[in-house]
Amino acid sequence: MHCPFCRHADSRVVDSRTAEDGSSIRRRRQCPNCMRRFTTIEATSLSVIKRSGVTEEFSRQKVISGVRKACQGRPVGEDDLAKLAQRVEELIRARGIAEVDADEVGLAILEPLRELDQVAYLRFASVYQGFDSLEDFEAAIGSLRAERDAAIAAAEGADGGAGSEQS
Ligand SMILES: [Zn+2]
Repeated sequence: MHCPFCRHADSRVVDSRTAEDGSSIRRRRQCPNCMRRFTTIEATSLSVIKRSGVTEEFSRQKVISGVRKACQGRPVGEDDLAKLAQRVEELIRARGIAEVDADEVGLAILEPLRELDQVAYLRFASVYQGFDSLEDFEAAIGSLRAERDAAIAAAEGADGGAGSEQS
């Protein structure tokens, strides 16, 4: 495994741990040349079945390029997109299946994107879920508002009760 910083051809494993769901192994490695550390993830192959029926390897980069347009002009950086793509991959891998439909990848994007940026979420959902009327937008915005209000109420109610029932 090449060092991602200096391209040195060798690296030393300093720590290994299996993901909680057992789907992958993370290895912390150190480059003996530049001494920097990086993480590798060893996982079973995950395939995406496209609408055309063609199967391809799951790609975080494809997730990012799919979401990037919805994030134009929003305060969403490359780091945020990389983290989002990682969340999406983890969500899908947690199911422990080797193949998913492209549609399921789209669905897995919705939740983390909503947490990241609500406007980008609305844009993505409107294209992905085929919003074709103002009512569709109103329904989506209504559920975002309800969630926000519930979060505010939970925060206000959290003063006295440590074991809040909101989750
Ligand atoms: Zn290096």
